Amino acid sequence: TELSSLILDRIRDVPDYPQPGVLFKDITPLLADPVAFDAVIEELAGLYEVDKIVGIEARGFILAAPTAVRAGAGFVPVRKKGKLPSETLEASYDLEYGSATIEVHRDAFVPGERVLIVDDVLATGGTARAAVELVRRAGADVVAVAVLMELAFLKGRERLTDVELHTLVVV
Ligand code: 5GP
Repeated sequence: TELSSLILDRIRDVPDYPQPGVLFKDITPLLADPVAFDAVIEELAGLYEVDKIVGIEARGFILAAPTAVRAGAGFVPVRKKGKLPSETLEASYDLEYGSATIEVHRDAFVPGERVLIVDDVLATGGTARAAVELVRRAGADVVAVAVLMELAFLKGRERLTDVELHTLVVV
């Protein structure tokens, strides 16, 4: 479609970042194009009727905050451990080497609120999986996870079988 080429034409492949052998999908050319960025936000904002949009630090914030404003929803940050000032819930997940922990404020949601989780890239799915658990534990209803780009060969989708997953482009 028109939107997928608008996106795909503005994603830069960076070899060996952040480590040798990884082909990193750099979204900064897309963000720098006001027409393409606007089209992405418009699409994300129209997907679901939700109360809150959750963004995952850090690139998820860039997409989730304008989506929330456009959709008339609230924005909630999911952050790396130690960054949120008030009482938090946390979830840990495995990385290739070691593990990572993300947090959300304990009182970020009214029980039963409808939530869309937004991130830029779905790779192995570990981050999105942890975010879904976190938001559910905080008492909200995860309507879907939406990502700009799904890296299909990493099979992240298989870790999200209990939640709706919407991806704008699959590579
Ligand atoms: P996962 O947990 O699914 O393996 O990795 C997804 C997380 O890592 C997302 O928060 C995403 O921002 C980041 N990520 C992993 N690979 C890439 C990539 O190639 N490009 C970008 N922009 N982010 C990536």
